[in-house]
Amino acid sequence: MSDFTTVVNPATERAIAEVPRQGIEDVDAAVARSLQAGPAWRSLAPTDRARLLRRLADKVEEHAEELAQLETRNVGKPIAESRDEVGMVAEVFHFYAGTVDKHRGATVPVAGGVDLTFHEPLGVVAAIVPWNFPIAIMSWKVGPALATGNTIVVKPAEITPLTARRLAELALDAGIPEGVLQVVVGQGSVVGTRLVEHPDVAKVAFTGSTEVGRQVMVRASGTIKRVTLELGGKSASVIFADADLERAAAATPAGVFANAGQDCCARSRVLVQRSVLDRYLVLLEQAVGQWTVGDPTDPRIKMGPLVSAGHRRAVEGFLDPGMGDPDGGPVPAFARGTVPEGPGFWFPPTVVAPADPGWRLSREEIFGPVVAVIPFDDEEDAVALANDTPYGLSGSIWTRDGARALRMARAVQSGNLSVNSHSSVRVQTSFGGMKQSGFGRELGLEALASYSDVKNVFIATED
Ligand code: NAD
Repeated sequence: MSDFTTVVNPATERAIAEVPRQGIEDVDAAVARSLQAGPAWRSLAPTDRARLLRRLADKVEEHAEELAQLETRNVGKPIAESRDEVGMVAEVFHFYAGTVDKHRGATVPVAGGVDLTFHEPLGVVAAIVPWNFPIAIMSWKVGPALATGNTIVVKPAEITPLTARRLAELALDAGIPEGVLQVVVGQGSVVGTRLVEHPDVAKVAFTGSTEVGRQVMVRASGTIKRVTLELGGKSASVIFADADLERAAAATPAGVFANAGQDCCARSRVLVQRSVLDRYLVLLEQAVGQWTVGDPTDPRIKMGPLVSAGHRRAVEGFLDPGMGDPDGGPVPAFARGTVPEGPGFWFPPTVVAPADPGWRLSREEIFGPVVAVIPFDDEEDAVALANDTPYGLSGSIWTRDGARALRMARAVQSGNLSVNSHSSVRVQTSFGGMKQSGFGRELGLEALASYSDVKNVFIATED
């Protein structure tokens, strides 16, 4: 096995970096440094810790274009998206800087004395991050972990380590002490497993597939680690006949093809009330025609390539005969976009319609630009279809009826829903899954709870 990982630009298929591949000894050394850095970091005056996080936010802003270009070259995502994501990273650090001195304990009325609670840091946190939003998802874990007084070791996906490594350098430039934020690049089965099993790691904040999340949960049980799991999804966008159909159709491509569909929140099932299905499909075809695919460094482009050749093969497999009709009939691709010629792991935006809810492509997470359009009859039918999945991450409801929007929002088993919108993630609001999309919440004030333990202290005051 080579001691280096070759990092490839998915839009050109060319190597852009060689990154040392780290192993178990590197994890152990990083965890030891993290453990050592812990006491000074947690006892820093809150205003000083907040100031360092703000400086990190400033560093990210100063280097925003460099980080965005690096992310686009490594992941293949359109530069406009990378700029937004890097902007969010700075906002995450600003937000959590503001929480350092506001994550307060309580005094509890009890007999015989005074009862206090403290939010204690956990110690060393391991963050395991996927390749689809590398720097953004890293920041969602680093921000609350550092704000609450933990130190952190981050393991990016092997194929997208560049912005994680750069962010760790910027943290040092910002004055965050050595050992507080470290990055270890290596294979999930080696470096990831070691972090999950390491006795000195107190918590694993994992984002990735449900399959690997399941293994993380099992392996973390050996040392009773705290675990938060942000896993896969098969979210539904539910479009009722009373919706603004033009708006819903125009928004559909961004809801499922953004980041080339490599988005845990992708609305890869669009449920459309049968009475408006034909009209919706005409509008959707027009919208897909405007969803341009090409060079991700071009700011006008809506979609870049998939992340790797292997991932493209996996996505292509969902259009094989048998992925639709179980008798082996062809998948009814209703509309497809176009892709550039030449190198690059391109895949056209693809609409499968009408799709049956039982088909594999309607049930499994594809993680590519493929959407299944499934008709429904009434609200009850829509709820049953939306919930007919082991996942529960995200979703949308399109209707002009406010009461129906609220009924649906309460009935759909999903951690993040939007009405007449496909937006799922904001710095200020919690984000996370129900069912097999995981547990625990990132972002917002809610994330702080999963990076600290509540300590209860009773002080007797009676003579
Ligand atoms: P993945 O599960 O293959 O890998 C995620 C991370 O885990 C990578 O860093 C990988 O190296 C590491 N890993 C792999 N095996 C490991 C092991 N045995 N022990 C510890 N770590 C291990 O996922 P991926 O292909 O990188 O990302 C795509 C998946 O991530 C999709 O399922 C997607 O839905 C999910 N995702 C979820 C969210 C969310 O917030 N819910 C966000 C983004 C992506």
